[in-house]
Amino acid sequence: MNLSFKKPSVDTCSKCDRINMKLKYAFVDQATNLKTLKEHQEAFKAAYEEKKANKQLAQSSEVVAVITFDLQQCLPTTYLQTNVAFYKRQLWTFNLTIHDLKTNKAFCYMWPECEGNRGANDIASCLYDFIINQLPNLHPNAKKLIMFSDSCFGQNKNSIVTTMLMLVTRLSPQLQFIEHKFLVPGHTHMEADTDHALIERIYTCQEIGTN
Ligand SMILES: [Zn+2]
Repeated sequence: MNLSFKKPSVDTCSKCDRINMKLKYAFVDQATNLKTLKEHQEAFKAAYEEKKANKQLAQSSEVVAVITFDLQQCLPTTYLQTNVAFYKRQLWTFNLTIHDLKTNKAFCYMWPECEGNRGANDIASCLYDFIINQLPNLHPNAKKLIMFSDSCFGQNKNSIVTTMLMLVTRLSPQLQFIEHKFLVPGHTHMEADTDHALIERIYTCQEIGTN
């Protein structure tokens, strides 16, 4: 059948790698290193389990909505493979993807670098639009919104985003609670990242004229 199993990619961060190297080559404090590694692994596995449990909750409940969101790596515009483009100043396009875990729908907020930055204000603006304009259509009865993201201070984990979330709970006629949950740094694979992989595959194929 020409089928084979792909070896799963290893989910390690710099902390995992550092401790693993110490365990392998620096034969001191092995017990402490092992304990630190175990605690770290338990923490990120617990965060993934929390996301999985919340996803199931969203699928079984009308009053809870769960989203993941992430900023994609910058997209060069237009995508050119010619070596001349490599030495030119390229226009970058930003994309924030918000993935709804109940409907499995993805919403992409895209803007070029000449129209906006990619800081806390920009991320908060996209989330604000999604919560006020998209969420009521997706989940008309949702009273609680759970959001998962990475812990990037410049974009997601900051007072600007938190203040915006406080504002939308007042403006939204239905939302009463918003929980923003952060995955463990280095272990932040989310549904929005799968959308990004798909976008990158299509983006690069279309530009070179293949399907
Ligand atoms: Zn790690």
